[in-house]
Amino acid sequence: MSIKLYNTLTRTKEELIPLQADTVRIYTCGPTVYSYAHIGNFRAYLFMDLLRRTLKYNGYKLKHVMNITDVGHLESDADEGEDKMEKAAKRENKNPYEIADFYTNAFMQDLEKLNIDKPEYIVKATDHIAEMIDYIETLIKNGYAYETSKGIYFNISKLDKYPILSNRKLDDQIIGARDEVEIDKEKKNPYDFALWIKAPKSHIMKWDSPWGLCYPGWHIECSTMGRKYLGDVFDIHTGGVDHIPTHHENEIAQSKGCTGKIPANIWMHVEFLQVDGGKMSKSLNNIYTISQLQERKIEPLAYKLFCFSSHYKNKLNFTWEGVHSAQVSLERLRSGLIKHLEGTEKIEEEVLESYRKRFLEAINDDLNITNAMSIVWEIVRAERKSIDFRNLLCEFDNVLGLKLDEIKKENDTQEDLPDDIKKIVEERKRARKEKDWTKSDALREELKKLGYCVIDNKDEMKIEKI
Ligand code: AMP
Ligand code: ZN
Repeated sequence: MSIKLYNTLTRTKEELIPLQADTVRIYTCGPTVYSYAHIGNFRAYLFMDLLRRTLKYNGYKLKHVMNITDVGHLESDADEGEDKMEKAAKRENKNPYEIADFYTNAFMQDLEKLNIDKPEYIVKATDHIAEMIDYIETLIKNGYAYETSKGIYFNISKLDKYPILSNRKLDDQIIGARDEVEIDKEKKNPYDFALWIKAPKSHIMKWDSPWGLCYPGWHIECSTMGRKYLGDVFDIHTGGVDHIPTHHENEIAQSKGCTGKIPANIWMHVEFLQVDGGKMSKSLNNIYTISQLQERKIEPLAYKLFCFSSHYKNKLNFTWEGVHSAQVSLERLRSGLIKHLEGTEKIEEEVLESYRKRFLEAINDDLNITNAMSIVWEIVRAERKSIDFRNLLCEFDNVLGLKLDEIKKENDTQEDLPDDIKKIVEERKRARKEKDWTKSDALREELKKLGYCVIDNKDEMKIEKI
């Protein structure tokens, strides 16, 4: 089966032909761990999850690296402002290493909550300082980098073409005029960017190097870690659309200077999540986290389902109303699954096979999740009730990652209940069947007193320990 993916570099959908027959090598730009990742960030990692799961569903093995940026990401991608980690350390009165540990843990917990399939290698920038120094030495040796009083800079005029990933025109947005920052006169070209930054005394994260006590620029970490784990050229590089004009452009520049090659064949970028039709911002107080969704009774998996309402290349607008309806849809999906779980019809193999084919075609067409979901809903709503449909949905869940195989029949969920509780539950079921609501309510109260809460959905009854 062929998988087509949109490549930002060639601006076309291309067939994926991995460089190593059965293994796809991927690099994903990971989070800067200076605060909680927000739902916009997680749209990017849900896209990564969908890509991984789709490739695995097609039978590929993966070698996938994601970095954790725990140093060197300045407030502006164009080498301006404070290091985000150091700024957070001051804000929270901690040291930057504590900040990195804390927010990396929080990030990993949110990945779990969203059932995101994790890359094989999750690696920290601060664990790769020696490799970054080696990389920069090669760039200097190859004539692509030079030293100034501020650090080591990449000389973009040495490249035959810059930029190549974006349509950005360099001369119509002269740095300084646009950003209202002082032009660094020591740089050979205003678009030269920092590889290695000489640390002021107050900077806590700094390492000894041939150029004194320094810390890395943001772009060099990805080139270094990508090359270390995946080699000079790998298959796919992913990130958000904000990475196109600067970060990924500069990663390509570094690789051209070091190895003479563009490091990845296919470059994929996920569009931004907006909130209420606009940007997320502190002033609007609309930068939501996964925990904040949970506080408002939205399951992380409902947010995942919400993200499935748009193709990754389109903007997605978050509203509370939209995510609430995703929560309702998730519950409907689960009830549909239970309906099929109890079904006894046998579905013909050709019917199942035709659904399989359509699902695969959708998902292999540049991860067309909206089309794939319409097939899922067709099966959920099918009139014939069948365990075969339930099993097919669970098979598709290898791509969706909605934990559908954990959805059990009412009786299954009650297997772990103590006998006396089971007895009351059965009695309550009978009362409901007979529409004896007074008795049903009384039994609900009794269960509550015994420490069990009852959730009645349309077709099912769930019992949970309080
Ligand atoms: P950062 O931690 O700022 O480096 O960002 C982590 C990831 O989130 C990057 O891949 C960004 O492109 C992505 N990202 C940031 N904001 C959004 C957003 N609003 N929607 C989608 N992706 C985003
Ligand atoms: Zn990166």
